[in-house]
Amino acid sequence: MSDTIRPSTPLVSLQNVMLAYGTAQQRQVILDETDLTINQGDFVALVGPSGCGKSTILKLVSGLVRATSGVVLVKNREVGATPIRIGMAFQNPTLLPWLTIRDNVMMPLKIVPPFRQQFKTERHRDFRHRVEALLAQVGLAGQGDKHPWQLSGGMLQRASLCRALIHEPELLMLDEPFGALDQFTREELWSIMQDLWMTRRPTVLLVTHDLKEAGFLANRICVMRAKPGRIVAERDIDFQRPRSVETTFTPEFTTLTHDLRAAIVAVRNATKEAA
Ligand code: ADP
Ligand code: MG
Repeated sequence: MSDTIRPSTPLVSLQNVMLAYGTAQQRQVILDETDLTINQGDFVALVGPSGCGKSTILKLVSGLVRATSGVVLVKNREVGATPIRIGMAFQNPTLLPWLTIRDNVMMPLKIVPPFRQQFKTERHRDFRHRVEALLAQVGLAGQGDKHPWQLSGGMLQRASLCRALIHEPELLMLDEPFGALDQFTREELWSIMQDLWMTRRPTVLLVTHDLKEAGFLANRICVMRAKPGRIVAERDIDFQRPRSVETTFTPEFTTLTHDLRAAIVAVRNATKEAA
């Protein structure tokens, strides 16, 4: 980035990771020779065709799935060895329908240490202020008493981002969180996400198949191929922040998305020919 010092301490690192499912006879290699480093405070986007293993990388980093071979490091130690606060948001907002928006957003504070221990003490009042501030930052001021069914898809996804951030995660993992929204709502959410990142500076790993979204939000884009999944290209994204939708219509931005698309298509064609 032109206006900020680039983060350089690795928070997450995948080194020569291979992941296969199935038995020895019917083995399916999902990821192979996968290398990825995410520095503290950075915003990395992972893009690639459906089924290439993007969500699988999130599962490896969160320790839900173990690599068949290779190394997954979190804070320089094998994944699982050191606790790390993670926030997640998905394409489906997954809010609990019987809770208000405020209580949904507050949920991680009830579960995640050290907040859990403080939840029933005087800090509860601080927590409420913290929720209200976050709701206000994403444009949901005054909506805390509502239930999920009373909100639009875009509003639900804003609330879901709040829930992912309320416990100050060291790593925020976003799995196509804007994928189900219409174009205008999605662009609004990009700006909100950028504002959240610029003010709170969590380390972010965003999975998307939308190159424009990746270019708008990320400091670095990692492009994946499929079958087996692997990162085949990386690009630093230097557009000045805050970026706006107008940024996405500049010739530099169009060239970027065009190049990335070409990289994906070239690998796909090479894979087809080899098959
Ligand atoms: P993406 O998120 O890029 O669309 P995924 O990471 O979800 O892709 O999946 C990558 C591949 O791994 C897909 O072909 C999927 O069918 C396969 N896959 C995912 N989970 C499992 C599993 N538990 N067992 C077998 N195959 C799986
Ligand atoms: Mg996925």
